[in-house]
Amino acid sequence: MMALLNKITQEKCPICNETLSTHKSNMLFSHIVKSCPNEHYEKEFISALEGYIEHYNVPTK
Ligand SMILES: [Zn+2]
Repeated sequence: MMALLNKITQEKCPICNETLSTHKSNMLFSHIVKSCPNEHYEKEFISALEGYIEHYNVPTK
């Protein structure tokens, strides 16, 4: 689990390249959410599914 965490804690936003933050994560439920500080992008890791869901929030102009 720690190796996995280390791997995903180094990810960056694909849009602005800021390091994703984990402030929405809930370690108690192994629910890990990585999000761009500029709210472009979120990656939600779901241990029950052994996978993740990506959310893009690209501003439309
Ligand atoms: Zn971003």
